[in-house]
Amino acid sequence: MILPIKIAPDPILTAMAIEVTKVDDSIKALIADMIETMRAENGLGLAAPQVGRGIRLCVLESIKGKAPIALVNPKITARTGRHVGPEGCLSVPNVVATRTRASHVTVRALDRNGKEIKLRLEGLSAIVAQHEIDHLNGILID
Ligand code: ZN
Repeated sequence: MILPIKIAPDPILTAMAIEVTKVDDSIKALIADMIETMRAENGLGLAAPQVGRGIRLCVLESIKGKAPIALVNPKITARTGRHVGPEGCLSVPNVVATRTRASHVTVRALDRNGKEIKLRLEGLSAIVAQHEIDHLNGILID
């Protein structure tokens, strides 16, 4: 199901999202809907607050033809390098902001089955992950 996207200044977008306590069927269904919504909107990532759910969950589009990634309670555990570039956001239409990001990040999270995962991301995936995790902390690009 395609979900409506919250647009700034909706207060859920600037609130701190809360941890997911259990990756249950409702979370799995939300992940499926968020992936469908991200693709319908041609986004590279989507965070739960953007669809009105203040929980620590985001999805990232695959970069090399792999399945999209769901990150539950993600934490960036290492950052290296520096990348400066333009970013847009589905919740902040018609704005392109220049952001400075780490070029490589290590992310620990739970996957869509509730299993602990550790990902090393670089390039666009690393940028998108940082952008989406910012959403979970109420941080927008503008
Ligand atoms: Zn965004």
